[in-house]
Amino acid sequence: MQTDAYIGLGSNLKEPAAQLAKAVAELAVLPQTTLIAQSPFYASRPVGPQDQPDFVNGAVWLSTELTPHTLLDQLQSIEQAHGRKRHRHWGPRTLDLDLLVFGNQTLDDERLTIPHRELPYRDFVLQPLLDLNPDLTLPDGVAIASLRSQCPDNQLRRLPPPDYP
Ligand code: ATP
Ligand code: CA
Ligand code: CA
Repeated sequence: MQTDAYIGLGSNLKEPAAQLAKAVAELAVLPQTTLIAQSPFYASRPVGPQDQPDFVNGAVWLSTELTPHTLLDQLQSIEQAHGRKRHRHWGPRTLDLDLLVFGNQTLDDERLTIPHRELPYRDFVLQPLLDLNPDLTLPDGVAIASLRSQCPDNQLRRLPPPDYP
């Protein structure tokens, strides 16, 4: 069975936009998974500690036969391949892949909370989701568009599309 899954991408180290572009290509070839669309990229101020570079953020829409936990395994192995090191909470990172929405499923265990816990409060997550699918709603029926209109402003700046050779 195919499920629509939305993944949030973020980076603020080592050419963030290139990290994200590479990650999108890697997500597109995950097993039993199809890339439906990718959002524009945005620059945003960091969450939490402010003594770190701005982030580049985006999101992708996948259709997948993987389970949420297997998909998280795949996301974490892509993060590792990008040299992600875990230092302080909300610190700088080469790549962060968050499982934002997984069909109409809700889940809360020691590894995974779906929808992502912070999603309603982050413009750099809500805006790319809206770009991908303006009609997207959470399992409880709340529209992403309505969350976006209530969300605190984090100085989101849409980046120009990259130059393709
Ligand atoms: P935040 O969750 O606030 O965005 P973060 O992305 O910096 O913070 P990480 O250090 O990347 O947090 O992840 C910590 C743990 O969060 C992971 O080991 C993972 O098990 C757990 N987690 C829970 N729910 C999710 C989810 N929906 N997507 C990704 N990881 C999740
Ligand atoms: Ca995150
Ligand atoms: Ca994460």
